Amino acid sequence: MTRIFCFVLLTVLAQMSRADGFVWPNGARGAVSLSYDDTLNSQLDNAVPVLDKHGIKASFYLILSSPVLFDRLDEWRALAKSGHELGNHTIYHPCSASRPGNDWVRPHNDMDKRTVEQMLDEVRTANTFLKAIDGRTERTMTLPCGDVVTSDGSYVPAVKNMFVAIKGAEENLPAGFSIYDVPSGLSGKELIAIVQRAAKNGGMANIIFHGIGGDHLSVSAEAHQELVAYLSANRQTYWTDTYLNIMKYVRDRMPRAKNQTPLSAN
Ligand SMILES: [Zn+2]
Repeated sequence: MTRIFCFVLLTVLAQMSRADGFVWPNGARGAVSLSYDDTLNSQLDNAVPVLDKHGIKASFYLILSSPVLFDRLDEWRALAKSGHELGNHTIYHPCSASRPGNDWVRPHNDMDKRTVEQMLDEVRTANTFLKAIDGRTERTMTLPCGDVVTSDGSYVPAVKNMFVAIKGAEENLPAGFSIYDVPSGLSGKELIAIVQRAAKNGGMANIIFHGIGGDHLSVSAEAHQELVAYLSANRQTYWTDTYLNIMKYVRDRMPRAKNQTPLSAN
């Protein structure tokens, strides 16, 4: 079985001032986006039941060529209907074979050999498939492996306007506003420490899960459950919601960052 590794661990943490007047809904001190990449069985089996038990909504970023989507399509569709988010993680999950540690990338799926136009087609088609699954037109994305450079440059500028936001490539956030973490093997307490750091700074924690109690880059089902139960028990402190809902809120209220590139300039 080909293992698909996703997203380079990127942890950015700095002080975020609330001097700009930005506040989260209902007095929450931080926002938390729980996301689940790569269309994995262990997410349906071990994560969704826990999220639903606690009434926590999350985002699931699908690889549309995954056999797990074909085999369990009704479950993914039901998940969206219940308020979770289905996001775009491309059709084939291309990554850069030249990056150290990426020797598992197959030649036909090498980002180094893609073009921007090919990626634009793939990402747009993925959005069409997702609309066919859940009926929605607003969408967010996570970047496979975090690799964005094709043979003729980054494809992010070509696709960004199809999305409310692309995780890790947001344009309207001040430096240090978000923490991004791809947890693998972390304990429940270590996961909780991530969201506590975000609340301390008044910002946002993006926890980018893959396997839950199985599959790759996994955390244990127990650790995941401990975090979800903590978030459920501390709703006054943490606004945990889909990345789409959080970023729509941010988009509508966040003053433009000083170093933001205006969309109109592209
Ligand atoms: Zn991935």
